[in-house]
Amino acid sequence: MEKLVIRNIGQILSGKLEDPIFDGDCLIAIDGKIDAWGYEKDLDCDGATTEVDAKGVTLAPGLIDSHVHPVVGDYTPRQQQLHWIDSTLHGGVTTLISAGEVHMPGRPKDVVGLKAMAIASQRWYENFRPSGVKVHAGAPVIEHGMVEQDFKDMADAGVKLIGEVGLGTVKDGKTAQQMVGWARKYGMQSTIHTGGPSIPGSGLIDADMVMETGTDVIGHINGGHSALPDDQIVCLCESCQAAFEIVHNGNERAAVLTVNTARELGKLDQVILGTDGPAGSGVQPLGILRMIAMLSAFGNVPAEQAFCFGNGNTARQRELDAGLIEKGYSADFVLLDQAQHAPGKTMLESVQLGNLPGVGMTIIDGIVRTERSRNTPPAERFPEKIT
Ligand SMILES: [Zn+2]
Repeated sequence: MEKLVIRNIGQILSGKLEDPIFDGDCLIAIDGKIDAWGYEKDLDCDGATTEVDAKGVTLAPGLIDSHVHPVVGDYTPRQQQLHWIDSTLHGGVTTLISAGEVHMPGRPKDVVGLKAMAIASQRWYENFRPSGVKVHAGAPVIEHGMVEQDFKDMADAGVKLIGEVGLGTVKDGKTAQQMVGWARKYGMQSTIHTGGPSIPGSGLIDADMVMETGTDVIGHINGGHSALPDDQIVCLCESCQAAFEIVHNGNERAAVLTVNTARELGKLDQVILGTDGPAGSGVQPLGILRMIAMLSAFGNVPAEQAFCFGNGNTARQRELDAGLIEKGYSADFVLLDQAQHAPGKTMLESVQLGNLPGVGMTIIDGIVRTERSRNTPPAERFPEKIT
């Protein structure tokens, strides 16, 4: 039995928007799953195989990037970059979700070819986790000519996602709606490219197309990069039950508009975060932390709630067993503290003032993956692995 005991936690962020801070200074995970948390004096801390002294810093569920474009392993041909996933882990992200492996050179667009690539992508990220990061991939982009049986075939083979609708040849709402319906029937989650074209070859997806298609996630509601006009973003927030995905590589003004609108509508639980990297804008190892700080600062959201956009909300919308402090959930955590010399009395206050926190440790499946981050500003305090 593997037993992880984390002591001297300053505060526990839960990932739960309705109750974002849990009482306690200690957390225990057994065989990679969260078992118990609370005050050390009330918990059975004996027999730890791994022991961490948190040194008073904050523990949060590992961050989730809802929108990435991986290709293979820890390499992206989009910006010729190695180890972008490892760099992202150093930004506190422990789970990545593919919005389509669209940067694969020579990506097949015929039906048999795209199905084969979807299945292969799902497998190679299931079989190989760069630096321990969980990559949910195998997200085919729908093309004309696909029939219901194609979706069944892929689902039977383990494909659980559909990449951004609109990046392939299907650009009309009627066809997209039918294919998204088939995907849903076989348990596959879907997303859509919202906004103006991203790169040569992609096209405009407006609010009408988003609503007609009816994907589970409104992919980059703030554009990737060009956003829809304000009235269309507000209309999507008002009309849709789908996740409002805000990305780092989008329009920051539209991101703030989305959060303000969602807050006024009482729909902050639908807000989730992604980077949309690798892309034309590059790779953003700190993208999720930057979005949390930016949206907390400009969207008038307490930092402990803004963190939920980057873990618990996404976990719930994506039906993942991570991203929340919940018994039986994956022991995936980021330990962070106020950055040195950052204004604010506490880590949360410094984040709400727009500053990044410093990451001191990441843990995935109960295993310490990184210690002091090489990418975030240095924190006031650093947790320590004792055994
Ligand atoms: Zn896109």
